[in-house]
Amino acid sequence: MVSRVIPVEPFDLVIFGGTGDLARRKILPALFRRFRGGQMPAGARIIGTARGGLDTVGYRSLVAEALHEFSGEGSGAEINAFLQRVSYVTVDAAGDTGWLKLREPIEEEQGPRVRLFYFSVRPRLFGGLAERIYRHGMARGARIVVEKPFGKDLDTARELNQMLAAYFYESQIYRIDHYLGKETVQNLMAIRFGNMLFEPLWNSQYVDHIQITVAETVDVAGREAYYDRAGAMRDMMQNHLMQLLCLIAMEPPAKFDSDAVRDEKLKVIRALDPVQPHHIVRGQFEGDAAAGLKSYRESVGNPRSATESYVALKAHISNWRWAGTPFYLRTGKRLVARSSVINVMFKDAPHSIFGEDAGRHANLLSIRLQPDEGITLKVTIKEPGQGGMRLVDVPLDMSFAEALGQEGSHPADAYERLIMDVIRGNQTLFMRGDEVEAAWAWTDPVIEGWTARGDVPKPYVSASTGPDDADLLMRRDGREWRGIRP
Ligand code: NAP
Repeated sequence: MVSRVIPVEPFDLVIFGGTGDLARRKILPALFRRFRGGQMPAGARIIGTARGGLDTVGYRSLVAEALHEFSGEGSGAEINAFLQRVSYVTVDAAGDTGWLKLREPIEEEQGPRVRLFYFSVRPRLFGGLAERIYRHGMARGARIVVEKPFGKDLDTARELNQMLAAYFYESQIYRIDHYLGKETVQNLMAIRFGNMLFEPLWNSQYVDHIQITVAETVDVAGREAYYDRAGAMRDMMQNHLMQLLCLIAMEPPAKFDSDAVRDEKLKVIRALDPVQPHHIVRGQFEGDAAAGLKSYRESVGNPRSATESYVALKAHISNWRWAGTPFYLRTGKRLVARSSVINVMFKDAPHSIFGEDAGRHANLLSIRLQPDEGITLKVTIKEPGQGGMRLVDVPLDMSFAEALGQEGSHPADAYERLIMDVIRGNQTLFMRGDEVEAAWAWTDPVIEGWTARGDVPKPYVSASTGPDDADLLMRRDGREWRGIRP
């Protein structure tokens, strides 16, 4: 399988927060991979900025270190060639320092080029950044990339949207959710809308329920203060899991273009019923002294914290397609394995011609997002050998790594794809302002509800599948979670 490199226009990419963790771990390695992949046109420039008093030489060595640490690929010569595209300007996002200097390279006459500003700084700086880019005459035709978290509730998200809208059109704003840049997430749309096979069955008549799991083994290290204010509901459910839910549940858009896709996603969010309090389970991981692991409360240094490191819930979408099919969503930290997977559980065949002894068998379509991206369809066949008609479930497994060789085993990192999409001006995989607000409008009452009730998260054992109550949530409905496997 040969990868196709679709050229992009020459660009100037300004990274605000160019010395930060996200820039070093994700943004710069992603750009380097695209450079190595031959997708960075001659004349493309990357301008790192922060308040720290570096110069271009100092910044290039910081970038080189970051590439060694987080990319682990490319020869010294390739890194050096990449670094020639990189420069640095000291800029204060909240003050006047550096803005005139930042304009100089951007103003140089270089022919038509795409101009991007990546806001890889704390959200409270977004408004000031937008205003200063505008005031210094750099907003026209530019694109801005905005990192999560996009607000902490509906009011703050609205406020952020309004701040950005004061200086930029919606068509210039790219709100990033890196889950949408994953290969399998886009494959979800290809599977649903590129095949005849699944779409006729994709409704409550044939689908019993859908499970979406995003399990992490890591805890909150390095993000303690932020996480203890946010919790799993705001940090993961409101954005990543909601986005997956939208892609699984949406109607076919008329075409694969950004507003058509985002219109359909928005309709799903708006069709979500409010979540019933008894359909929510929150958890907090316990410590494990033998393994030297701190509890959640010890990790965040807040012995009375009521923030959840795990949340599971049952959601209903009130529309013709999905009425009667529940969606079970769960996400948590310090769980048994790192695994993001969507399981579409089909209903049993209406009548078994093989009698009671054959047992019950239902099809399952399992879509793995990470770590091993791929798709498995579980089908029922006859157990081989003598002894009558015994049935057994076997997987039809398509690991992208096996099926697609080199390309499948090294799918582009989400950030690579998303940054290139911004340069191409393709907003399909970015959240629109109204989508984010609708997601908060659904999330806020859930959080307000448990806060008003004074609910305390249930403890769960480190490296487990989460609190027992999450299993109960399923068992009450006569169902069970699929295992969490790496
Ligand atoms: P970080 O490591 O704290 O880096 C912050 C960066 O912003 C630094 O380069 C800092 O450099 C710069 N900065 C701070 N105040 C500034 C100001 N007034 N003017 C100009 N630059 C300023 O943060 P991060 O982890 O990279 O996160 C950046 C953003 O991405 C945040 O919104 C975060 O929520 C989001 N995000 C991060 C991750 C991740 O994995 N790290 C994942 C998802 C989303 P100076 O102090 O030298 O100015």
